[in-house]
Amino acid sequence: MNIGIAGGGILGRLTAFFLLQRGCDITLFDENAEFPVLRPDVQYPSPSYVAAGMLAPYCEMEYAEPVVVKLGLESFSLWSSILEAMEERVFFQREGSLVVAHQQDKNEFQRLKQMVEKFTAEPVMRHVKGEQLREIEPEINPNIQEGLFFPLEGQVDSRGIMAAMGAYLKKNGAQLHFNAKAVAVSAGSIKTKTGEQTFDCVADCRGMGAKPDLPQLRGVRGEVVRVNAPDVTLGRPVRLMHPRYPLYIVPRPNHDFIIGATSIESEDLSGISLRGALELLSALYSLHSGFSEARITETCTQLRPALKNNAPRIFHSQRLVRANGLYRHGYLSAPRLAWLTAEFIMEQKAASGYEEIYEAQ
Ligand SMILES: Cc1cc2nc3c(=O)[nH]c(=O)nc-3n(C[C@H](O)[C@H](O)[C@H](O)COP(=O)(O)OP(=O)(O)OC[C@H]3O[C@@H](n4cnc5c(N)ncnc54)[C@H](O)[C@@H]3O)c2cc1C
Repeated sequence: MNIGIAGGGILGRLTAFFLLQRGCDITLFDENAEFPVLRPDVQYPSPSYVAAGMLAPYCEMEYAEPVVVKLGLESFSLWSSILEAMEERVFFQREGSLVVAHQQDKNEFQRLKQMVEKFTAEPVMRHVKGEQLREIEPEINPNIQEGLFFPLEGQVDSRGIMAAMGAYLKKNGAQLHFNAKAVAVSAGSIKTKTGEQTFDCVADCRGMGAKPDLPQLRGVRGEVVRVNAPDVTLGRPVRLMHPRYPLYIVPRPNHDFIIGATSIESEDLSGISLRGALELLSALYSLHSGFSEARITETCTQLRPALKNNAPRIFHSQRLVRANGLYRHGYLSAPRLAWLTAEFIMEQKAASGYEEIYEAQ
Protein backbone atom coordinates (compact mmCIF):
# COMPACT_ATOMS: atom_id res chain seq x y z
CA MET A 1 0.00 0.00 0.00
CA ASN A 2 1.05 3.52 -0.79
CA ILE A 3 0.52 5.76 2.28
CA GLY A 4 0.83 9.53 2.63
CA ILE A 5 1.41 10.94 6.11
CA ALA A 6 0.89 14.61 6.98
CA GLY A 7 2.88 15.60 10.09
CA GLY A 8 6.20 14.24 11.27
CA GLY A 9 5.96 14.72 15.02
CA ILE A 10 6.37 11.70 17.27
CA LEU A 11 3.02 10.24 16.17
CA GLY A 12 3.62 10.68 12.43
CA ARG A 13 7.10 9.18 12.65
CA LEU A 14 5.97 6.18 14.70
CA THR A 15 3.00 5.57 12.40
CA ALA A 16 5.43 5.59 9.45
CA PHE A 17 7.66 3.14 11.37
CA PHE A 18 4.87 0.60 11.89
CA LEU A 19 3.58 0.97 8.32
CA LEU A 20 7.08 0.40 6.91
CA GLN A 21 7.25 -2.78 8.96
CA ARG A 22 4.04 -3.90 7.22
CA GLY A 23 5.62 -3.37 3.82
CA CYS A 24 3.95 -0.05 2.89
CA ASP A 25 5.49 2.71 0.77
CA ILE A 26 5.61 5.88 2.85
CA THR A 27 5.66 9.54 1.85
CA LEU A 28 5.69 11.94 4.82
CA PHE A 29 5.27 15.73 4.74
CA ASP A 30 6.17 18.10 7.56
CA GLU A 31 5.91 21.86 7.47
CA ASN A 32 9.05 22.28 9.56
CA ALA A 33 12.72 21.76 8.81
CA GLU A 34 14.28 18.32 9.14
CA PHE A 35 16.69 19.57 11.79
CA PRO A 36 14.84 22.46 13.41
CA VAL A 37 16.89 25.13 15.12
CA LEU A 38 16.84 24.31 18.83
CA ARG A 39 18.08 27.53 20.39
CA PRO A 40 16.83 29.29 23.51
CA ASP A 41 15.82 32.37 21.53
CA VAL A 42 13.88 30.48 18.86
CA GLN A 43 10.34 29.13 19.17
CA TYR A 44 10.26 25.33 19.08
CA PRO A 45 8.55 23.83 16.06
CA SER A 46 6.30 21.30 17.81
CA PRO A 47 5.56 19.82 21.23
CA SER A 48 7.45 16.71 20.14
CA TYR A 49 10.66 18.77 20.61
CA VAL A 50 9.57 20.36 23.88
CA ALA A 51 8.28 17.29 25.75
CA ALA A 52 10.20 16.04 28.73
CA GLY A 53 9.71 12.49 27.46
CA MET A 54 8.38 11.07 30.71
CA LEU A 55 6.80 7.65 30.46
CA ALA A 56 4.69 7.80 33.59
CA PRO A 57 1.31 6.09 33.24
CA TYR A 58 0.62 5.92 36.98
CA CYS A 59 1.88 9.35 37.98
CA GLU A 60 -0.20 10.83 35.17
CA MET A 61 -3.36 9.10 36.34
CA GLU A 62 -5.01 12.24 37.60
CA TYR A 63 -4.70 13.83 34.16
CA ALA A 64 -5.52 10.75 32.12
CA GLU A 65 -8.51 8.62 31.21
CA PRO A 66 -8.01 4.87 31.87
CA VAL A 67 -7.59 4.33 28.11
CA VAL A 68 -4.51 6.60 28.13
CA VAL A 69 -3.01 4.65 31.01
CA LYS A 70 -3.63 1.44 29.06
CA LEU A 71 -2.05 2.88 25.89
CA GLY A 72 0.93 3.97 27.97
CA LEU A 73 1.41 0.61 29.66
CA GLU A 74 1.19 -1.24 26.36
CA SER A 75 3.65 1.20 24.80
CA PHE A 76 6.54 0.09 27.02
CA SER A 77 7.20 -3.13 25.11
CA LEU A 78 6.83 -1.27 21.81
CA TRP A 79 9.43 1.27 22.97
CA SER A 80 11.90 -1.59 23.45
CA SER A 81 11.49 -2.80 19.87
CA ILE A 82 11.51 0.74 18.45
CA LEU A 83 14.75 1.62 20.25
CA GLU A 84 16.33 -1.66 19.23
CA ALA A 85 15.64 -0.88 15.57
CA MET A 86 17.38 2.51 15.74
CA GLU A 87 20.95 2.79 14.54
CA GLU A 88 21.76 5.60 16.95
CA ARG A 89 21.60 4.99 20.66
CA VAL A 90 18.86 7.07 22.26
CA PHE A 91 18.81 7.88 25.97
CA PHE A 92 16.08 5.75 27.56
CA GLN A 93 15.69 4.99 31.22
CA ARG A 94 13.40 2.73 33.18
CA GLU A 95 14.51 3.29 36.76
CA GLY A 96 11.09 4.32 38.02
CA SER A 97 9.83 7.68 39.14
CA LEU A 98 9.38 9.20 42.56
CA VAL A 99 6.51 11.41 43.75
CA VAL A 100 6.98 13.57 46.83
CA ALA A 101 5.08 16.34 48.60
CA HIS A 102 5.85 18.86 51.31
CA GLN A 103 4.10 18.04 54.59
CA GLN A 104 1.38 20.70 54.07
CA ASP A 105 0.50 19.25 50.64
CA LYS A 106 0.12 15.66 51.72
CA ASN A 107 -3.52 15.55 50.61
CA GLU A 108 -2.40 15.73 46.98
CA PHE A 109 -0.11 12.82 47.55
CA GLN A 110 -2.83 10.72 49.22
CA ARG A 111 -5.19 11.42 46.33
CA LEU A 112 -2.76 9.96 43.78
CA LYS A 113 -2.09 6.96 46.03
CA GLN A 114 -5.80 6.17 46.26
CA MET A 115 -6.26 6.58 42.53
CA VAL A 116 -3.52 4.08 41.74
CA GLU A 117 -4.78 1.62 44.38
CA LYS A 118 -8.23 1.80 42.81
CA PHE A 119 -6.80 1.18 39.32
CA THR A 120 -4.72 -1.87 40.17
CA ALA A 121 -3.87 -4.24 42.98
CA GLU A 122 -0.52 -5.06 41.30
CA PRO A 123 2.62 -3.88 43.15
CA VAL A 124 3.24 -0.90 40.84
CA MET A 125 3.73 1.61 43.67
CA ARG A 126 5.63 1.64 46.97
CA HIS A 127 4.96 4.10 49.77
CA VAL A 128 8.49 4.93 50.97
CA LYS A 129 9.48 6.79 54.12
CA GLY A 130 12.66 8.18 55.69
CA GLU A 131 15.62 5.95 54.89
CA GLN A 132 13.78 4.06 52.15
CA LEU A 133 13.19 7.37 50.38
CA ARG A 134 16.85 8.42 50.81
CA GLU A 135 17.99 5.10 49.32
CA ILE A 136 16.10 5.96 46.16
CA GLU A 137 17.03 9.65 45.95
CA PRO A 138 19.64 10.55 48.60
CA GLU A 139 19.89 14.24 47.71
CA ILE A 140 16.28 15.38 48.06
CA ASN A 141 15.46 18.08 50.65
CA PRO A 142 15.78 16.32 54.05
CA ASN A 143 12.47 17.85 55.19
CA ILE A 144 10.68 15.64 52.72
CA GLN A 145 10.03 12.41 54.54
CA GLU A 146 7.62 10.43 52.38
CA GLY A 147 7.27 9.48 48.77
CA LEU A 148 5.52 7.20 46.30
CA PHE A 149 7.91 5.19 44.17
CA PHE A 150 6.73 3.80 40.81
CA PRO A 151 9.44 1.31 39.78
CA LEU A 152 8.07 0.58 36.29
CA GLU A 153 8.06 4.14 34.96
CA GLY A 154 10.73 5.77 32.83
CA GLN A 155 11.71 8.42 30.32
CA VAL A 156 13.00 8.78 26.77
CA ASP A 157 15.03 11.59 25.20
CA SER A 158 12.37 13.17 23.00
CA ARG A 159 14.74 15.06 20.69
CA GLY A 160 17.04 12.04 20.43
CA ILE A 161 14.26 9.70 19.34
CA MET A 162 12.86 12.25 16.86
CA ALA A 163 16.27 12.43 15.15
CA ALA A 164 16.88 8.68 15.26
CA MET A 165 13.42 7.95 13.84
CA GLY A 166 14.01 10.40 10.99
CA ALA A 167 17.26 8.63 10.09
CA TYR A 168 15.61 5.21 10.36
CA LEU A 169 12.67 6.14 8.13
CA LYS A 170 14.96 7.54 5.43
CA LYS A 171 17.28 4.56 5.53
CA ASN A 172 14.34 2.20 5.16
CA GLY A 173 12.98 3.85 2.06
CA ALA A 174 10.42 6.37 3.32
CA GLN A 175 10.31 9.61 1.37
CA LEU A 176 10.46 12.48 3.83
CA HIS A 177 9.58 15.99 2.69
CA PHE A 178 10.42 18.75 5.15
CA ASN A 179 9.52 22.44 4.82
CA ALA A 180 6.50 20.99 3.04
CA LYS A 181 3.28 22.27 4.56
CA ALA A 182 0.19 20.24 3.68
CA VAL A 183 -2.37 22.84 2.67
CA ALA A 184 -5.12 20.23 2.24
CA VAL A 185 -5.30 16.74 3.73
CA SER A 186 -8.23 14.70 2.44
CA ALA A 187 -9.22 11.15 1.43
CA GLY A 188 -6.31 9.67 -0.51
CA SER A 189 -4.73 13.07 -1.18
CA ILE A 190 -2.22 15.51 0.29
CA LYS A 191 -1.77 18.91 -1.32
CA THR A 192 1.28 21.06 -0.75
CA LYS A 193 2.27 24.35 -2.39
CA THR A 194 4.14 22.38 -5.04
CA GLY A 195 1.28 20.08 -6.04
CA GLU A 196 -1.02 17.22 -5.09
CA GLN A 197 -0.07 13.59 -4.45
CA THR A 198 -2.52 10.73 -4.25
CA PHE A 199 -2.26 7.65 -2.04
CA ASP A 200 -4.15 4.46 -1.21
CA CYS A 201 -4.66 5.98 2.24
CA VAL A 202 -3.66 9.16 4.08
CA ALA A 203 -2.75 9.45 7.78
CA ASP A 204 -3.22 12.91 9.24
CA CYS A 205 -0.84 13.30 12.21
CA ARG A 206 -0.49 17.09 12.20
CA GLY A 207 -1.20 17.67 15.91
CA MET A 208 -2.53 21.24 16.29
CA GLY A 209 -1.92 21.72 12.56
CA ALA A 210 -5.03 19.58 11.93
CA LYS A 211 -7.35 22.11 13.59
CA PRO A 212 -8.89 23.32 10.29
CA ASP A 213 -10.22 19.76 9.82
CA LEU A 214 -10.75 18.95 13.52
CA PRO A 215 -12.25 22.13 14.97
CA GLN A 216 -12.83 20.37 18.31
CA LEU A 217 -9.03 20.27 18.86
CA ARG A 218 -7.74 22.66 21.52
CA GLY A 219 -4.20 23.59 22.49
CA VAL A 220 -3.12 23.46 26.14
CA ARG A 221 -0.14 25.69 26.74
CA GLY A 222 2.83 24.15 28.55
CA GLU A 223 5.98 25.94 29.72
CA VAL A 224 9.24 24.16 30.43
CA VAL A 225 12.64 25.26 31.75
CA ARG A 226 15.90 23.41 31.11
CA VAL A 227 18.81 23.88 33.50
CA ASN A 228 22.28 22.54 34.04
CA ALA A 229 23.04 21.93 37.73
CA PRO A 230 26.48 20.41 38.43
CA ASP A 231 25.66 20.30 42.18
CA VAL A 232 22.63 18.07 41.75
CA THR A 233 22.36 14.38 40.97
CA LEU A 234 19.01 12.68 40.62
CA GLY A 235 18.64 9.13 39.39
CA ARG A 236 15.15 9.36 37.91
CA PRO A 237 12.23 11.75 37.29
CA VAL A 238 10.91 13.29 40.50
CA ARG A 239 7.50 14.90 40.87
CA LEU A 240 6.50 17.38 43.50
CA MET A 241 2.78 17.31 44.25
CA HIS A 242 1.45 20.79 44.88
CA PRO A 243 -2.12 22.13 44.82
CA ARG A 244 -1.22 25.11 42.58
CA TYR A 245 1.88 24.18 40.65
CA PRO A 246 2.70 20.48 40.43
CA LEU A 247 6.19 20.10 39.05
CA TYR A 248 8.40 17.42 37.60
CA ILE A 249 12.15 17.30 37.27
CA VAL A 250 13.55 15.01 34.62
CA PRO A 251 17.28 14.33 34.95
CA ARG A 252 19.34 13.83 31.81
CA PRO A 253 23.04 12.92 31.44
CA ASN A 254 25.67 15.55 32.41
CA HIS A 255 23.52 17.16 35.12
CA ASP A 256 21.00 18.54 32.65
CA PHE A 257 17.44 18.74 33.95
CA ILE A 258 14.09 19.46 32.37
CA ILE A 259 11.60 21.15 34.68
CA GLY A 260 7.98 21.25 33.73
CA ALA A 261 5.41 22.00 33.18
CA THR A 262 2.69 24.55 33.47
CA SER A 263 -0.70 23.62 32.04
CA ILE A 264 -2.80 26.54 30.87
CA GLU A 265 -6.02 26.45 28.82
CA SER A 266 -4.71 28.85 26.22
CA GLU A 267 -3.30 28.69 22.70
CA ASP A 268 -0.86 31.52 23.38
CA LEU A 269 2.49 30.39 22.02
CA SER A 270 4.53 33.34 23.23
CA GLY A 271 7.55 32.82 25.53
CA ILE A 272 7.40 31.69 29.16
CA SER A 273 5.58 34.04 31.55
CA LEU A 274 7.18 35.44 34.69
CA ARG A 275 4.60 33.58 36.76
CA GLY A 276 5.33 30.29 34.98
CA ALA A 277 9.07 30.68 35.49
CA LEU A 278 8.69 31.68 39.15
CA GLU A 279 6.39 28.78 39.98
CA LEU A 280 8.56 26.19 38.29
CA LEU A 281 11.86 27.49 39.63
CA SER A 282 10.78 28.16 43.21
CA ALA A 283 9.23 24.71 43.52
CA LEU A 284 12.44 23.31 42.07
CA TYR A 285 14.59 25.07 44.63
CA SER A 286 12.36 23.77 47.44
CA LEU A 287 13.20 20.23 46.35
CA HIS A 288 16.98 20.59 46.28
CA SER A 289 18.92 23.67 47.29
CA GLY A 290 21.73 22.66 44.92
CA PHE A 291 19.59 24.08 42.12
CA SER A 292 20.39 27.59 43.39
CA GLU A 293 23.59 27.57 41.32
CA ALA A 294 22.01 25.96 38.26
CA ARG A 295 22.31 27.74 34.92
CA ILE A 296 19.14 28.17 32.89
CA THR A 297 19.90 26.78 29.46
CA GLU A 298 16.50 27.04 27.82
CA THR A 299 12.91 28.04 28.35
CA CYS A 300 10.26 26.82 25.96
CA THR A 301 6.55 26.92 25.36
CA GLN A 302 4.35 24.68 23.24
CA LEU A 303 0.75 23.53 22.89
CA ARG A 304 -0.46 20.06 23.75
CA PRO A 305 -3.05 18.90 21.21
CA ALA A 306 -6.15 17.92 23.20
CA LEU A 307 -9.60 16.49 22.41
CA LYS A 308 -12.66 15.61 24.50
CA ASN A 309 -11.73 14.03 27.87
CA ASN A 310 -8.08 14.69 26.97
CA ALA A 311 -7.95 11.26 25.37
CA PRO A 312 -6.68 10.56 21.84
CA ARG A 313 -8.91 9.56 18.92
CA ILE A 314 -8.56 7.84 15.58
CA PHE A 315 -11.08 9.48 13.21
CA HIS A 316 -11.64 7.45 10.08
CA SER A 317 -13.34 7.65 6.74
CA GLN A 318 -12.65 6.10 3.35
CA ARG A 319 -8.86 6.33 2.61
CA LEU A 320 -8.28 8.83 5.44
CA VAL A 321 -7.33 8.36 9.10
CA ARG A 322 -6.75 11.30 11.43
CA ALA A 323 -4.96 10.38 14.69
CA ASN A 324 -4.70 13.14 17.26
CA GLY A 325 -5.29 14.37 20.82
CA LEU A 326 -2.18 13.02 22.51
CA TYR A 327 -2.38 15.93 24.98
CA ARG A 328 0.31 15.56 27.67
CA HIS A 329 0.94 11.89 26.85
CA GLY A 330 2.53 11.90 23.40
CA TYR A 331 5.64 9.99 24.38
CA LEU A 332 3.83 7.86 26.90
CA SER A 333 1.18 6.58 24.53
CA ALA A 334 2.21 7.35 20.92
CA PRO A 335 3.81 3.94 20.25
CA ARG A 336 0.57 2.06 20.87
CA LEU A 337 -1.59 4.75 19.22
CA ALA A 338 0.67 4.72 16.15
CA TRP A 339 0.51 0.93 16.08
CA LEU A 340 -3.32 1.08 16.24
CA THR A 341 -3.37 3.72 13.48
CA ALA A 342 -1.18 1.56 11.24
CA GLU A 343 -3.29 -1.49 12.03
CA PHE A 344 -6.49 0.39 11.17
CA ILE A 345 -5.06 1.52 7.84
CA MET A 346 -4.18 -2.06 6.96
CA GLU A 347 -7.21 -3.89 8.36
CA GLN A 348 -9.95 -1.22 8.43
CA LYS A 349 -11.19 -2.36 11.82
CA ALA A 350 -10.97 -1.23 15.42
CA ALA A 351 -8.70 -3.18 17.76
CA SER A 352 -10.62 -4.94 20.49
CA GLY A 353 -10.40 -3.22 23.85
CA TYR A 354 -9.91 0.15 22.16
CA GLU A 355 -13.33 0.69 20.52
CA GLU A 356 -13.86 3.95 22.42
CA ILE A 357 -11.03 5.79 20.65
CA TYR A 358 -12.28 5.21 17.08
CA GLU A 359 -14.75 7.59 15.51
CA ALA A 360 -16.18 7.44 11.99
CA GLN A 361 -16.09 10.85 10.30
C1 LIG B 1 5.59 21.40 27.80
C2 LIG B 1 5.24 20.02 27.35
C3 LIG B 1 5.77 18.92 28.01
C4 LIG B 1 5.42 17.62 27.61
N1 LIG B 1 5.95 16.55 28.26
C5 LIG B 1 5.56 15.29 27.92
C6 LIG B 1 6.09 14.17 28.61
O1 LIG B 1 6.93 14.30 29.51
N2 LIG B 1 5.66 12.92 28.25
C7 LIG B 1 4.75 12.74 27.24
O2 LIG B 1 4.37 11.60 26.99
N3 LIG B 1 4.26 13.80 26.55
C8 LIG B 1 4.64 15.06 26.88
N4 LIG B 1 4.14 16.13 26.19
C9 LIG B 1 3.11 15.90 25.16
C10 LIG B 1 3.70 15.61 23.80
O3 LIG B 1 4.69 16.53 23.48
C11 LIG B 1 2.60 15.66 22.74
O4 LIG B 1 1.51 14.86 23.13
C12 LIG B 1 3.13 15.14 21.40
O5 LIG B 1 4.23 15.90 20.98
C13 LIG B 1 2.05 15.15 20.32
O6 LIG B 1 2.64 14.54 19.20
P1 LIG B 1 1.99 14.63 17.75
O7 LIG B 1 2.95 13.97 16.83
O8 LIG B 1 0.59 14.19 17.79
O9 LIG B 1 1.92 16.21 17.44
P2 LIG B 1 3.10 17.25 17.18
O10 LIG B 1 4.25 17.00 18.07
O11 LIG B 1 2.46 18.60 17.24
O12 LIG B 1 3.55 16.97 15.70
C14 LIG B 1 2.79 17.42 14.60
C15 LIG B 1 3.72 17.60 13.42
O13 LIG B 1 2.94 18.00 12.31
C16 LIG B 1 3.58 19.05 11.64
N5 LIG B 1 2.54 19.85 10.97
C17 LIG B 1 1.58 20.61 11.53
N6 LIG B 1 0.81 21.14 10.56
C18 LIG B 1 1.29 20.68 9.38
C19 LIG B 1 0.92 20.87 8.03
N7 LIG B 1 -0.13 21.62 7.68
N8 LIG B 1 1.64 20.24 7.08
C20 LIG B 1 2.70 19.46 7.38
N9 LIG B 1 3.11 19.26 8.65
C21 LIG B 1 2.41 19.86 9.63
C22 LIG B 1 4.33 19.82 12.72
O14 LIG B 1 5.44 20.49 12.18
C23 LIG B 1 4.77 18.68 13.64
O15 LIG B 1 6.02 18.17 13.28
C24 LIG B 1 4.51 17.44 26.53
C25 LIG B 1 4.02 18.55 25.84
C26 LIG B 1 4.39 19.83 26.24
C27 LIG B 1 3.87 21.01 25.47
